[in-house]
Amino acid sequence: MKSFILHNARLIDGSDNEPFLADIFIKNSLIEKVEPKGKTNLSSDIPMFDLKKRTIMPGLIDCHVHLVAPLEANSHEPFWKLNTPPSMKILCAEANALKTLKAGFTTVRNCGGLSTGLPEDIFLRNAINSGYTLGPRILACANGISMTGGHGDRGFPAFLPSHPELGYGDVPADGPTDCRRAVRRKVKAGADFIKTFTTGGASTPGDGPHSVDFTMEELKALVEEAHAHKKKVAVHAVGTQGIRNAVEAGVDTVEHGSFLDRETAEKMKAQGTSLITTLAIYKAIINRGKSYPNQEAIRKARVVSDANSSALALARQVGLNIAMGTDASGSIRNGENASEFVALVEEGLSPREAIGMATANAAKALGLEKSIGTIEPGKKADLIIVNGDPLANISLLTIRTNIRMVIKSGKIVCFRESGENAAVGSDLPKSWINRI
Ligand SMILES: [Zn+2]
Repeated sequence: MKSFILHNARLIDGSDNEPFLADIFIKNSLIEKVEPKGKTNLSSDIPMFDLKKRTIMPGLIDCHVHLVAPLEANSHEPFWKLNTPPSMKILCAEANALKTLKAGFTTVRNCGGLSTGLPEDIFLRNAINSGYTLGPRILACANGISMTGGHGDRGFPAFLPSHPELGYGDVPADGPTDCRRAVRRKVKAGADFIKTFTTGGASTPGDGPHSVDFTMEELKALVEEAHAHKKKVAVHAVGTQGIRNAVEAGVDTVEHGSFLDRETAEKMKAQGTSLITTLAIYKAIINRGKSYPNQEAIRKARVVSDANSSALALARQVGLNIAMGTDASGSIRNGENASEFVALVEEGLSPREAIGMATANAAKALGLEKSIGTIEPGKKADLIIVNGDPLANISLLTIRTNIRMVIKSGKIVCFRESGENAAVGSDLPKSWINRI
């Protein structure tokens, strides 16, 4: 069945439009037409399914995840990275990808695999695209690029050097030539974008949000090389100076952006740089409490979490493109991505604004606004069907049983009739829409 019509759906289309009852025409993998309910005579040969006024939304997009992460809750990640062979890491990433898809996220940007020699996120992306396994559309970076002693090079004790080939630590690069070489290695590996770091962070011992990674010369070489290969650059940047340097070097997305200042925000606006906020992860780190082995991270996360609120307020004032990220890995589990919506609404955003960050804004931040992010003709049919009204209660999206159906590129890939259990597959029978 190449074409079908989703009739009588309450449409949240990902833009500023008011929700309305719509008929959505799907042809092959694309949205062909979106019309107010009943405008077109539906008595044609095309199968039509009545959604009975259920909510339909664009497939969600998380701009910052780490799929190559432990499956067990409360794992200590550095220990897991050291003790897990590369093949097992790919299987964990596959399981995390499926959880993410079942939660309604049809596209994710994986902001750091673990291995450079065996880039898990690239392999997984290719396997999903080839139909060997099931998961969201993945943008992969094949591991990050870090200066020696930078945020990506500090996950392990100093006597145990990072080993990016085996899956612990990011690729070390020192000096502009190294930075260019590292970018070229990523491009050779098949990276969709380049991930790097200009500050420390909460999770790494010995550095902090305000430490500055890389010189301007190094950063400019890295960004220039990436752009020469038409790859966007995503930069972990928490402290003010590191954000400033990243923006000055011309990066495409600032990840976290906690200590953003007005001048830099205005420069981002002028350059079209997007901000990827990650609020919930810092709250989740704080909530890990006294039993968490990394107490230093908890102290730093408290400071960063307060700064995140001010940065978000400033970014909204300046009118930046703000998109949603979760940093899903250990503290926020893959598949619990929607918890970020709740954190955003707690900051005073409307549910519609929060959803916009994970749909239209996210697509724009990733450079995919022509193909995903809103429900309109010509775009990929990435759609989710949801119980209830997330505009009235955003936390509905955090409850898995409310995500009744996930459609990716016009194919039903996940269906929940009731309860937790979901049928998943690369092309489930469309007639199941009748059981919604
Ligand atoms: Zn991250």
